[in-house]
Amino acid sequence: MIRIGIGHDTHRLQEGLPLWIGGLKIPHSHGCVAHSDGDVLLHALIDALLGAAALGDIGEWFPDTDPAWQGADSARLLEQVLQELHIRKYRIINVDAIVFTQKPKLSPLKPAIRERISSLLQLPPECVNVKAKTGELVGPIGREEAISAQVAVLVDSAT
Ligand code: MG
Repeated sequence: MIRIGIGHDTHRLQEGLPLWIGGLKIPHSHGCVAHSDGDVLLHALIDALLGAAALGDIGEWFPDTDPAWQGADSARLLEQVLQELHIRKYRIINVDAIVFTQKPKLSPLKPAIRERISSLLQLPPECVNVKAKTGELVGPIGREEAISAQVAVLVDSAT
């Protein structure tokens, strides 16, 4: 059976913090305020995968009140979620993602982010798409106060 999942995440930006997007450290003056590494794209991806498998959301699996996830590498959280899907015999068909940032400009980084996501998911690159949008200089994204991401996934279940 084919199932769909969606995910969304937003993090506030603060000067001097590292910026992680899609499992890559992106050179920038600001990074995300978060309990974990604040990777909006991986968090939205995790939520999309959990959604497709009807397994709740990232906050239930990795509570931000739990010191275990302090500064956590989101790629490791994703690995754990992939393991849960694998146990339940779900196979990912494709992933489509959008990252919203005014700065840094993500278009030159899209191929690297796509490659990293496809490697984390062990999917061929043609099954992963990454889009970049600005905030058109308005709202929290446009004012460079925050970045966000949206992800849609399709999975196939053997049962
Ligand atoms: Mg998050």
